[in-house]
Amino acid sequence: MAQMLVKDFDSIVPDKVDELQKLPGVGRKTANVIASVVYDKPAMAVDTHVFRVSERLGLTTASKSPLQTERELVKYIPEELIPKAHHWLILHGRYVCLARKPKCEICGLTAFCRYFAKKL
Ligand code: SF4
Repeated sequence: MAQMLVKDFDSIVPDKVDELQKLPGVGRKTANVIASVVYDKPAMAVDTHVFRVSERLGLTTASKSPLQTERELVKYIPEELIPKAHHWLILHGRYVCLARKPKCEICGLTAFCRYFAKKL
């Protein structure tokens, strides 16, 4: 990776997702994280938390893949909020909307949540 960075990118980590993905070992999620966190670009990295929480809330519907979720989210979230929204979704999934047993009883999003509405 270091050799490619020096040779093909003048020793500068690229800021575009497509270029980042050319680096060995860098997949779309990692490329989006770098673009978002390092360069503050409107890139949405979709990990397991973002994927699950988006689906439960109803931000996506029957998404089949992280890429599909990413495309849906960036379509509707204002560009300037995408880097923040990425962290909101991850932290919500890590501490409140847990995979096996979501903590709906302490969640502030029950009024907007498709999963919660279906449960009632
Ligand atoms: S209400 Fe429950 S399912 Fe919906 S986002 Fe909150 S914790 Fe997750």
